[in-house]
Amino acid sequence: MTGSIGLQALEVIKKLGSFRILAGTYHTNHNLAQKLAREFEIAKILCTKDDYDELFWLMEHHRPDVTLVCVPGFASLSVTLKALQTSRRVLLASKEALVCGGWLVKEAKEKNHCELIPVDSEHSALMQIYEPEVEKVLLTSSGGALRDWEIQELNRAKPEDVLKHPVWKMGKRITVDSATMVNKGFEVLEACELFQLEAKQVEVLIHREGLVHAMVFLKDGTVKMHLGFPDMKIPIAYGLTYPKRSFENKSWPNLIETTLKFEYVDREKYPAFYLAYEIEKDYAKRTAYNAADEVCVEAFLQNRIKFTQIAKVIEKVVERIEANPRDLEDLKSIDAESRRIAEEVIECL
Ligand code: MG
Repeated sequence: MTGSIGLQALEVIKKLGSFRILAGTYHTNHNLAQKLAREFEIAKILCTKDDYDELFWLMEHHRPDVTLVCVPGFASLSVTLKALQTSRRVLLASKEALVCGGWLVKEAKEKNHCELIPVDSEHSALMQIYEPEVEKVLLTSSGGALRDWEIQELNRAKPEDVLKHPVWKMGKRITVDSATMVNKGFEVLEACELFQLEAKQVEVLIHREGLVHAMVFLKDGTVKMHLGFPDMKIPIAYGLTYPKRSFENKSWPNLIETTLKFEYVDREKYPAFYLAYEIEKDYAKRTAYNAADEVCVEAFLQNRIKFTQIAKVIEKVVERIEANPRDLEDLKSIDAESRRIAEEVIECL
């Protein structure tokens, strides 16, 4: 709850006034968590740094109406699976859960008759305009902080250049992932899982204004788009109150001032994004894609690798992982092995 999504969720919950918060988690920011617990009357705050045992016990004990999963990284998969077993509705902000273990998440959802609602602006938008027989869908992307940089200059990009996101204010990892567009690669896979699509049915275009979040293309020639200001509080509130819209916002884009322009995603500039399409059917490689990216982002932020090396390392790790995961334990070993290989590849650069 001390991350970007958690803090905005607390704001939304305060405004809605109809939810009681049973528990919240934090990773390192203990002081902020304590302050939030007092302000929002959160009965229990838990540190997830060491393990999730106490959190899982609490979830089983309380059986909450809604669980918001906004835990970063691979760890979000086990939290999502537990949330699906114990809650009536799961709001999923952690796309890694679907990227690495999409089939496990869907099985758990079916088995427990639980609702799964995306808290990702593009997927929340898709959910709102989706029709069962769509021909294809489109997700938009800002293109990240380096969208106007020349390709030859990208290897000189420093963490401070990359951390200036043009549209959204978010955590560090997702901001770097926006610049490489790995984040959008995750979102393509996320959309496939949530809406039963094949990756070739999920198109992505760069849209600088950040007003259109998603579109669906229907067979009779109709295109539906979803517009709104880029504000994560809107998809959070939608997920919490669905199918109602109880969140009062009333701030709409001024259409006279919009241009609604879209651009192709350059293959040379964003190689790590296109990799997502190639590994669509392979959960082992998808897990490697996420793990290698996590390691690379960390290494880039510590100035251990160049920006352009992120995609190269990910590609090498994904290439080396060959496995046929059957359960969460298998995915955990693939995740650990991918991290080890990523460090090894970085050492050899
Ligand atoms: Mg998104």
